[in-house]
Amino acid sequence: MTPFLDLASDSGFGLANLPYGVFSTAGHPARVGVRLGDWVVDLDVLEQHGLIAAAGAGRGPVFNHASLNAFMALGADAWDAVRSRLQDLLRADGAPDLRDSATLREHAIVPLADVTMHLPAEIGDYTDFYSSRQHATNVGTMFRGPENALMPNWLHLPVGYHGRASSVVVSGTDVVRPSGQQRPDDDAPPVFGPSKLLDIELELGFFVGPGNDLGSPLPMAEASRQIFGFVLVNDWSARDIQKWEYVPLGPFLGKNFATSVSPWVVPYAALEPFRIPGEAQDASAGNPEPLPYLRQPEPRSLDIDLTVALETTAMREAGAAPHVVATSNAKNLYWSPEQQLVHHTVNGCNARPGDLMASGTISGEEPGSYGSFLELSWRGTRPLSLPDGDTRTFLRDGDRVLLSGEAVRGDLRIGFGEVTGTILPSDSTAGGLPLAS
Ligand code: CA
Repeated sequence: MTPFLDLASDSGFGLANLPYGVFSTAGHPARVGVRLGDWVVDLDVLEQHGLIAAAGAGRGPVFNHASLNAFMALGADAWDAVRSRLQDLLRADGAPDLRDSATLREHAIVPLADVTMHLPAEIGDYTDFYSSRQHATNVGTMFRGPENALMPNWLHLPVGYHGRASSVVVSGTDVVRPSGQQRPDDDAPPVFGPSKLLDIELELGFFVGPGNDLGSPLPMAEASRQIFGFVLVNDWSARDIQKWEYVPLGPFLGKNFATSVSPWVVPYAALEPFRIPGEAQDASAGNPEPLPYLRQPEPRSLDIDLTVALETTAMREAGAAPHVVATSNAKNLYWSPEQQLVHHTVNGCNARPGDLMASGTISGEEPGSYGSFLELSWRGTRPLSLPDGDTRTFLRDGDRVLLSGEAVRGDLRIGFGEVTGTILPSDSTAGGLPLAS
């Protein structure tokens, strides 16, 4: 499939991808678009001109909103129809409606450089899982020793917790270093101050489609038609705040100060060619077979290359490229997105359009494939060396982190783009410091 627009030959944003996002341009409010190469196709314009009718003929528009929720709620048949119609409208030998209308092209096709990206969905609920076996093993080894690294439940269910939706931000949003209670000395009382162990988590997130009614679990057979698409997630984490607060109810203020997502939502359908078998969940691999509701036919895993890069203030001032500190892959997840969604609703909990579910930190087996600085620096004991001679254990003010992702097979490339964020100094007024007299 060749589009009528010129694309770089190695673009991860060809007609096989067509990720959705919410964008605005000078003087015009946010609406839904689809990315093609270094262009954004304005779906609000196409919908107004009757070139696409996502909800069906005569039904209301869904692309003139500042979120994808209305489109997500329509379900997989509508997503498939729109995707196929867009591929037809944008290919060189497809429908002429857009290709041959200079006026329509002028209105509907915007250079990527001219747009501001927004959060792709109005996120009602955000849930974070813990589905990478190597990450769970690394963290468990650091905190409980290698004999007790995986908790007894880990191989039987996708462990997760409810995150905070209000602080999910789009890529490029700065992150203020959080302050909070910490207890650096186990024999002394806790102290208050800016986190000294600020970290990232490399994750893959998905948005829920129509969802399910309260009390009606989603069965595995329906799960694949309920996942709208995927984004990269950086689940920023303050390890010192987390360590002191997390027993017994889990993550709270060490996590909920910010979670960043990439702006382009890669459709579930675009990743079909990148499905691969996951680690066997049965005795052949020495693993317990999941309970029947969690069993999923293969291939259940996704082959997506993931990268973590760091740009320090000094590197930025010197014009140096961000330094890659880790490379991982989504295939390092033991529990799939479908298993996460099915488990989430098995008790009758209702998932709703626009809900965000993240995988948990995705770490591979090699030290260079770990998805957090906690693991990369092994709890701060092995500082990372940067090209200019500087070192890092955890993040310093001014550091910018870039997570990127791409699925590649032969000539087929599906890009996720990036999710970035820069650490700003802590708010010195936080925590009720004494008022000046
Ligand atoms: Ca996480």
